[in-house]
Amino acid sequence: MDFRKLPPVQEQIMKCVRCGKCRSVCPVFAEIRNETAAPRGHVFMVQMLRDGKVDARQEVYERLSNCLLCETCSVNCPSGIDIHELNAAARSHIYEQNPSLAKELIFDTMWTKPGLLRASTKIMSGVQKLGLQTFARNTGLTRILPGDLPKAEAIMTSIPSRSARSRLKKVNPALGEKKYTIGYFLGCGTDMLNPAAALATVDVLTRNGCEVIIPQDMKCCGLPHLANGKMETARLLAAHNVQIFNAYKFDYIISDCASCTSALSRKNMEFLLGGLKIEDDALAFAAKVMDLTKFLIEIIDIRLPAQAGEKKIRVTYHDPCHLANAQGIKEQPRELLRRIPGVEFVEMADANRCCGGSGTYSVTHYDLSMKILDRKMDNAMETGAGAIATCCPSCSMQLRYGIRRHHWDCRVVHPVELVSAAYKQTQQ
Ligand code: SF4
Ligand code: SF4
Repeated sequence: MDFRKLPPVQEQIMKCVRCGKCRSVCPVFAEIRNETAAPRGHVFMVQMLRDGKVDARQEVYERLSNCLLCETCSVNCPSGIDIHELNAAARSHIYEQNPSLAKELIFDTMWTKPGLLRASTKIMSGVQKLGLQTFARNTGLTRILPGDLPKAEAIMTSIPSRSARSRLKKVNPALGEKKYTIGYFLGCGTDMLNPAAALATVDVLTRNGCEVIIPQDMKCCGLPHLANGKMETARLLAAHNVQIFNAYKFDYIISDCASCTSALSRKNMEFLLGGLKIEDDALAFAAKVMDLTKFLIEIIDIRLPAQAGEKKIRVTYHDPCHLANAQGIKEQPRELLRRIPGVEFVEMADANRCCGGSGTYSVTHYDLSMKILDRKMDNAMETGAGAIATCCPSCSMQLRYGIRRHHWDCRVVHPVELVSAAYKQTQQ
């Protein structure tokens, strides 16, 4: 698809009035302080690319990929420009002229095949359990890794040995009277890096009258592909998932992962289709997609029984960009936390500021990512919380690394894990 024909590139770009509002909120610009790293600079760069004033060179891709795709600029732009979409479209356009074998292997061969991805993660987990990662680090062997990996490999520690998929049944009946049939979109990150969140999701949904079905053939939501210049693959993945989920009669398609629900939203589907008419089946699919916390608060109106002799835990919340910015979901996860007996909810400063994780960003832009993370950790530690709750496996991984980096005694959880724990505690 010609990137010049995509709606953000064709229509929105001309609306930029150079006001600089986007620049003042961009977490990357706050660290780099250079116009080429500012959202406004990216808009200008994409315009030049569109008009043929700059070539689709790798160097331009590198500059555009400084962006986290956090969408903070887009939600603050008074002209309503989807700056992150412009950026993602331009990356794909440049990537098509500068393909890389490594990316083909990672994003097309591996990340489109869930079985292969799970097997690779299992191998990595085994390597860690045998102490080989620590050995390689201590002996300097990690230095042979490409790019930022010698530093960034430390983010990926304690990979669970078993995926959520291997621990969950395909069909999980509702406990008590059945109210809804739910298709659970179990994203790759939650499945392999955060299985405890997936187990808690199924536990809490089934306790609340939901039959939870996990379609076995679902694939990645496509967001990592979009961020890495693989828009065509993201489009194919979206079409695949629409077909798989539409084969069932679900009342809702729920995910506990902010990135997945944002990737599966109507807005993203429309972007992927580049202004073409969105098919009825994709429309029907997207209309059913909902974030877990929104579902628990707005549809279920969850109420948890008080606990006898409850143990208080102070919890703060980090807004994933793909939930707060992309979907406007800020209040529901907070309300869910407030409804958990034993939780003392405390707000951190700038909770809606990116943590610097952004999927693969912390691996490809380690130093910049750490500067953004350190600001987040300062604000989180101020609260004196015993747990940081968040709704995204990528944020969770980044925050866990931040906790280790700052030698802080704290843990990272999905809010649903605390809900599930509260249910279990009342049964004891
Ligand atoms: S906020 Fe929007 S209109 Fe203002 S400079 Fe940024 S992109 Fe242009
Ligand atoms: S998406 Fe986020 S990181 Fe990228 S330009 Fe906008 S505000 Fe900056």
